[in-house]
Parts: sequence; C-alpha cells; structure tokens
Amino acid sequence: MKSNKQRRAEIKAHRLARAARVEAQPRVSNRQSGVCLSVLGIERADLDVLGRYNNTCVPPPEFYFARPFTCRDCGAEEIWTAKQQKWWYEVAHGHIDSRAVRCLACRRARRERLRSVGPGANLLGEQTNRLRALGRARPNEKAVAEVEAALQSKWWSLRVVAIQTMARWGDAEQVERLKAMVAARPADGRRYWSWERVAADAAMCALIRRE
Ligand SMILES: [Zn+2]
Repeated sequence: MKSNKQRRAEIKAHRLARAARVEAQPRVSNRQSGVCLSVLGIERADLDVLGRYNNTCVPPPEFYFARPFTCRDCGAEEIWTAKQQKWWYEVAHGHIDSRAVRCLACRRARRERLRSVGPGANLLGEQTNRLRALGRARPNEKAVAEVEAALQSKWWSLRVVAIQTMARWGDAEQVERLKAMVAARPADGRRYWSWERVAADAAMCALIRRE
C-alpha cells in the first residue's frame, strides 16, 4: 500500500505533466484562428458590434456558419455563407432574427418589382407571365425569338425565366445551351455576384427539374 506522501507526490507529478502538455500545444493567435475558420466557411461574430446594434433578448451568435436554405420564390437550393451573414448582421445591421429567404435572382427580381413605379410599372411582371405561358406550349419561331430577347434583358429575373422556359421546351439544342451555361459557372469566390454564376445555377435547377 502507498503512503500518503507517495500518493501526493504522484498527484503532483501528474499535474506537472499535464501542465507541460498544455504548454507544448501550438499557440494559435486570434488572427490565425480567423484564417482557419474562414477556410472552414465559419466567421467569428463581432459581439461588440452585435451588442450595439441588436436590440433583442436573443443572445447573439459567437460564430456564423454557412446555412443552406430553399428560396421562397423559386425553390432553388442556396447557401447563405458565413461571410454574407457577417456582412448582413454587422455592416447592414440586419435584425438578428432575420434570415436569407430568397436566392440572388429572386432578391433582385423583388427589388426591381418594388422599385418600378409609374408607366410600365408592371412590365416585368407581365413579361414574366408571358414567358412562363410560352413554356407551356410547343415553341414556334416567335416564341424562340422572345426567349432570346429575354436572355438579354436588363432584368436578371426575366433572364432566369427565359432559362426555365428553355428547359421546359427541352429541345436538344436548348438543353445543350443550358448545359454550356452550367459548365461556364465561375468558381466560388470569384465573381460571386456575376450573371454567369446566376445563369449556371438557374440552368442547373431547371435541368434537374426536367429529369
Ligand atoms: Zn429564387
């Protein structure tokens, strides 16, 4: 049997060994850990900023994680990235309970609808409905020309409907064009807000729905 003295010595040695192990672990600075986190798609929240601007009893998040969501308007599967969340809550001071509910194309469409006033205010809505109606019938030359024109529209949302219409028709030539759009998708991070990216995602969704 061990004496009390022996036991105390063992406990002390054990503690020293543990302290040495902790000491030996690589120190990670806040800056470095920030870089590691962003590689994982995680952003550290600035609790100071959140505390100043968010008047709520809900405790603010310590980190932002990428959140998948389904677009309320078109049903596209989208990711609300940690970076976008940080911007939304800390720069735009969005309410802490607010969440992304629409994809980029539908957000733009909504903004365009809300912004358009005066004569032709509902032009976008009318053109959108027309294009959708074209997709329900076999295409003729005139319909194809309208879709081509819509693909050049200043309204991205109308271009997206044109892509959906092409997918509904599903002619081999149009399917090939949609596949080319998907293939031309810019890498994530590069030109994130470009039309090419929106077009590629819209084309992919439209093609998947056809299958
Ligand atoms: Zn959408």
